[in-house]
Amino acid sequence: MLISPGTILLLSPMASRFTPPSRAQQLAAIGLTTALPQPLQRALEPRDDFQPLPEPEPSDWLRNHAEVGQTFDQFTRSLPNRPDNHRSKLYLQPLGRFNESDAPSLDQLRRFTAAFFMMEVVVLPASDLAQNHIMSRRNPGTGQRQLLTGDILNALQARLPKDAFVLLGITMTDLYPDPSWNFVFGQAAPRDRVGVYSFARYDPRFYGQTPTADSRKLMLRRSCKVLAHETCHMFGIEHCVWFRCLLNGSNHLAESDARPLHLCPVDLRKLQWSTGFDVVERYRRLLDFHRQEGFEDEAQWFEKRLRFIAPHN
Ligand SMILES: [Zn+2]
Ligand SMILES: [Zn+2]
Repeated sequence: MLISPGTILLLSPMASRFTPPSRAQQLAAIGLTTALPQPLQRALEPRDDFQPLPEPEPSDWLRNHAEVGQTFDQFTRSLPNRPDNHRSKLYLQPLGRFNESDAPSLDQLRRFTAAFFMMEVVVLPASDLAQNHIMSRRNPGTGQRQLLTGDILNALQARLPKDAFVLLGITMTDLYPDPSWNFVFGQAAPRDRVGVYSFARYDPRFYGQTPTADSRKLMLRRSCKVLAHETCHMFGIEHCVWFRCLLNGSNHLAESDARPLHLCPVDLRKLQWSTGFDVVERYRRLLDFHRQEGFEDEAQWFEKRLRFIAPHN
């Protein structure tokens, strides 16, 4: 059996220490951009708007998962699913109740997802879980009800609309993938075009904290983040090790809160290649959304990027 030097490195215990990539490695991951239109070329320049990844702490994702990263070229060679004329829409299927008082607004999630992916997003009427033969249990630790992800994925697959690029279940109920697991934030079957994500653990009340004036904003921000991160996986985009990026893996809530709500140049290029969006138009729509929702730091980031990418309009 042939073992490449890379494989040997992966097997060595020392190599599980993550080394942030060099500038040359970042540029190689983005790939050659000279043939691309001017605004897109500028959007893919790894300027200082894109922060390097810090050295991971012992509990962080990259100290516990040996990830080597996926370059733009590796991504296109993996022949991922891409939206086309037949399968052009993102469908969101709320599972169970989404109360205005304690859940992110479905309309805000729809607007964000539509701007992020530059695709039509359809929110289906909420589905009653009891009618779908979905196994559930009470988590012995938290006492909260949990739904079995495999049953949900099967139910979604059976009702995949003909024009759906993907059908994503979203729920305020906690999830578990197997009786031996404590919980899971979500699970997906990208090739089958279905996934399910829970926002339950993004609510401060899940941890017994008292809701504050900012709780709703925090919950929306976290929900937008997980929805965009997980939906990018549905496009075949893997975890990012190149920059601080929405696609960085995350082992705990603090790490996921530290991730930005935007894509690094490598992953922006992957998503743009998949859907063919206008990069300036997409940044404008995301800027509008972040301004409307009061996500000030992200709004400033998109404003700065737009000034650089499209300085004359
Ligand atoms: Zn992920
Ligand atoms: Zn990235």
